[in-house]
Amino acid sequence: MFILKMLSSFRRRRGVYFLTVVLLWVGVTYLMWTHLDGEGSSWPRIRGDFFPREEYRIATGRVGPAKRHGDNKVHKAYSSKKAGVGDVERNVKDDAGNATVVFRGDLPPEPMPNEPDFDVVRQLFNITNAGDGGKAFKIDPQRLPPEEQMKYETAFRKNAMNEYVSNIIGVRRRLRDPRLEGCAERYSSAGLPQTSIIICFVNEAWSTLLRLVHSIHDNTTPHLVKEVILVDDGSSWDFLGRPLDVYMARFPKVQIVRATKGLGLMVARTLGYNYTTAPVITFLDSHCECFPGWLEPLLTPLATDPKVVTTPCIDSIDRNDFGIGVGPDVLVGVVEFPTLQFGWRLQPPREKKRRKSKLEPVRSPAMAGGLFSITREYFDLLGGFDPGMKIWGGENIEMSFKIWMCGGRIETPICSRVGHVFHSHSSYRGLREGAFVAGEANNARVVEVWMDDYKKYYGHYRRPMSKKRYQPGDVSERVMLRERIRCKPFSWYIQNVYPEVALPGDGVYSGEIRNEAFPKKCLDMMTSKEGGHPAMFDCHGQGGTQLFDMTDLDEIVSLNRCLARVHGGVSNYKSNWASRDHIWEYKDKLIRRHNNCLTVNATQHVVMGECSGKKSQQWTWNYHRPRRKTVLRIEEM
Ligand code: UDP
Ligand code: MN
Repeated sequence: MFILKMLSSFRRRRGVYFLTVVLLWVGVTYLMWTHLDGEGSSWPRIRGDFFPREEYRIATGRVGPAKRHGDNKVHKAYSSKKAGVGDVERNVKDDAGNATVVFRGDLPPEPMPNEPDFDVVRQLFNITNAGDGGKAFKIDPQRLPPEEQMKYETAFRKNAMNEYVSNIIGVRRRLRDPRLEGCAERYSSAGLPQTSIIICFVNEAWSTLLRLVHSIHDNTTPHLVKEVILVDDGSSWDFLGRPLDVYMARFPKVQIVRATKGLGLMVARTLGYNYTTAPVITFLDSHCECFPGWLEPLLTPLATDPKVVTTPCIDSIDRNDFGIGVGPDVLVGVVEFPTLQFGWRLQPPREKKRRKSKLEPVRSPAMAGGLFSITREYFDLLGGFDPGMKIWGGENIEMSFKIWMCGGRIETPICSRVGHVFHSHSSYRGLREGAFVAGEANNARVVEVWMDDYKKYYGHYRRPMSKKRYQPGDVSERVMLRERIRCKPFSWYIQNVYPEVALPGDGVYSGEIRNEAFPKKCLDMMTSKEGGHPAMFDCHGQGGTQLFDMTDLDEIVSLNRCLARVHGGVSNYKSNWASRDHIWEYKDKLIRRHNNCLTVNATQHVVMGECSGKKSQQWTWNYHRPRRKTVLRIEEM
């Protein structure tokens, strides 16, 4: 208050005012300088010249419109946003988009919405080095005073993650090196192509977005990055306007491109792409953190084969406490049928055998879509993202199919690790009209363009896809693209890239499973909830939980869940391609594993029993087809 009063009286005398501002600035600079470099400082040292050190702390930078190629419908639009930056930053001269600005070191400009009251928080919790090294930072919100509790809850709701805690951790933290032994030696930056990094965001929290950019800065070999393009896809939060421009001006390689209205992530990424100049493009979600050495392994395969597309291992950043849990070394991305949703599996035996060492990249039939590197050459050949797709969903499946079908492949160099916040829900969905149906329309486009006669395997779990929900729109351009670049048929993809797939009704054995002892009853998964128990139920002929497929890998699957042996019984588990408990043999009507057979007992429960060949162990399936020769089964390893 005192300082404010002083300032307002000084305002009449401009010279003195200016002097005061300069003095304040020097004071704050000094404080921050000593704080940041003081003993026990938690900040990591700046590596290399990616972002010059002096610019990092207190910077005088230029804020100007990003360079652009093509599309002129979209422009930078900070004028519509309020300033909202702290006192120090008011020392701004803005002439036609160029500004001289002074920054407040690592602290976000204020006032930021939902910024914790640090005086209060510091008294209640030890926040020194909160989240350091990627560790979780937990607080009990019950201990906060009511107004802080309110902030905590509002922030969580708005962001679908714990923004309050994220803000305490701050815009920058050190991350430990989680790579397997041998990774650092395996990859070098020599001779690698440069990449442009594209990060689209819509109403992203300040601290998560900035922490991503800082993590890129801190953990990337500088010369590998040509530019970082932040694409603001129609955010409505003021602090993502001018304050973001000001903050990012310290990073000479960062450009901000703003869409004048929400475009949806496919079109927004394409917009960002129009500003890129490097031979490789790397996409990241706006709430990631990049671990040390993350980039070299992504670029290395692309240096020799422009049709390889790489995705990092995605580690989960906990949305409650921002602890980064390093996941399993090897996960494979797949697409689930009939929903066309993306899912994870352990590597199938076929892939395990192909990989000669633990450090060798693993190949995936599909990718999650948010994080990947692709050469400009292949991205252009594939026609980039489908401009007919809206908002969110399906674009990763389209990319996955065409990457494989048009001569390339998707692989995850397991030495590349990037953290990602998995949200409790999509917070921007309220902002985007039609967000809920967009995904299905996008899927329909994928089905029409890429799936040939496998089209019939797309649908809803339980009910057939209705016409109203199946709205691909005009796909003629995309069909022509597929013909022009001579991509392989979808059957090739299934046979060679994804032979372990469980297509409902297309198993080696498929249909209803009836038991000899109870001819009117059918085996029924009963629920798609994991851990549930299958039972005998009146046959209804509607498929769903009574449709079972034995895959070429020998899993027995219904509604994407597989029949698993647990504690002498049978239960319903997520298929993983690697567990022997999920593997069966079907021969002479017996569904067995070694000497144990699937049996209906006296109380009509489905259990495992010693094989005797009695009627209650005899099962019949409706259909049979020959095996795909490309599958390597667990037993064959
Ligand atoms: N996104 C966007 N425009 C949209 C929807 C999403 O730019 O209309 C961005 C979003 O901010 C995020 C990325 O696209 O950086 C992926 O979205 P999200 O993280 O919600 O997907 P998820 O990780 O949940 O699959
Ligand atoms: Mn995301």
